[in-house]
Amino acid sequence: MKDIILTGDRPTGSLHLGHYVGSLKNRVTLQNTDKYDQFVMIADIQALTDNANNPEKIRANLLEVMLDYLAAGLDPEKTTIFVQSQIPALFELPMYYSNLVTMSRLERNPTVKNEIKLRGFERNLPVGFMTYPISQAADITAFKAKYVPVGDDQLPMLEQAREIVSSFNRIYNCEVLVEPEAILPENHGCSRLVGTDGNAKMSKSLGNCIYLKDDEKTLKQKIMSMYTDPLHINVSDPGHIEGNTVFAYLDAFATDADVSALLPEYAGLDEMKEHYKRGGLGDMKCKKLLNSVMQELLRPIRERREEFAKDRGYLLDSLSKGSAKAREVSDKTLGEVRAAIGINYFSGSLKLHL
Ligand code: ATP
Ligand code: MG
Repeated sequence: MKDIILTGDRPTGSLHLGHYVGSLKNRVTLQNTDKYDQFVMIADIQALTDNANNPEKIRANLLEVMLDYLAAGLDPEKTTIFVQSQIPALFELPMYYSNLVTMSRLERNPTVKNEIKLRGFERNLPVGFMTYPISQAADITAFKAKYVPVGDDQLPMLEQAREIVSSFNRIYNCEVLVEPEAILPENHGCSRLVGTDGNAKMSKSLGNCIYLKDDEKTLKQKIMSMYTDPLHINVSDPGHIEGNTVFAYLDAFATDADVSALLPEYAGLDEMKEHYKRGGLGDMKCKKLLNSVMQELLRPIRERREEFAKDRGYLLDSLSKGSAKAREVSDKTLGEVRAAIGINYFSGSLKLHL
């Protein structure tokens, strides 16, 4: 049997470059190796945990995310793409798992802590949001996923999922659940891509994104107004690479061959960085290089997106078929989970103790 992969995205907006380099690109590579059974989930219920009063936003973005998947190269014939809300096991499993997790453990999760702060929830924190790591553990384990390609913000979630798996298997004396591992992008700068404003993470919620669907003009505008080095005022001033968004993106997206093809005076990115640090290399030139690289990367994705957008029926049909398959696989795990706990009363195994 092939190892299983599961990941997903919240349909709170269309997908951006952070998703692409953090996870989506890896998924396409893994899909095409033919070595794995891959499941990709549109996490609409997780999106409701902080958007309960705005379900329209989630409806509006469901097919947007599907389009981004297809445009980036996911193929429903090779990867099972499904919608979380259509899979009943994903609601039942968290009920069992939540008894294995303490409140203080949930409160310690650094990603959740950070997201609570970001959203300003304070006392009005929805219970569903607080417990979403448990629901995420259900998403992963329902498919017995061994690998989860994600950005590094998700590492605490995987840690939590592993703890749940090990508690479950120990308490119910079974080997039903599989401990998942993260697959992080090879390039370090990609596991948490900074926002165009220099903020530590490109995120839909922070409004600092370059979207896969951005047109040529929008992409150029976003690059031209990127945060660089506030101390690099004149071209001749020495510049800083650390914290400079343009160089963070060049690190993530440009190869040495790109640099030397477009700016032949440099053998590669390191030489260019040295020049910037010494002084004498202007931000505009760096941004133009980045723009060329990004336009090359995003053009084919955008074109494929436009093609797929012509066929709404195909998108819905693929999601519906994917969801049916995901239901089948996860129901099987759910049956095993119920049997391990011993609540499969009507399977003929219950005895009378007289
Ligand atoms: P939201 O603000 O609604 O939470 P988001 O932009 O954080 O949206 P998610 O849907 O939460 O996106 O994340 C989906 C996947 O993309 C996760 O695997 C996450 O690690 C990855 N990801 C998101 N943003 C980035 C980023 N800036 N760099 C690398 N990976 C990222
Ligand atoms: Mg997020």
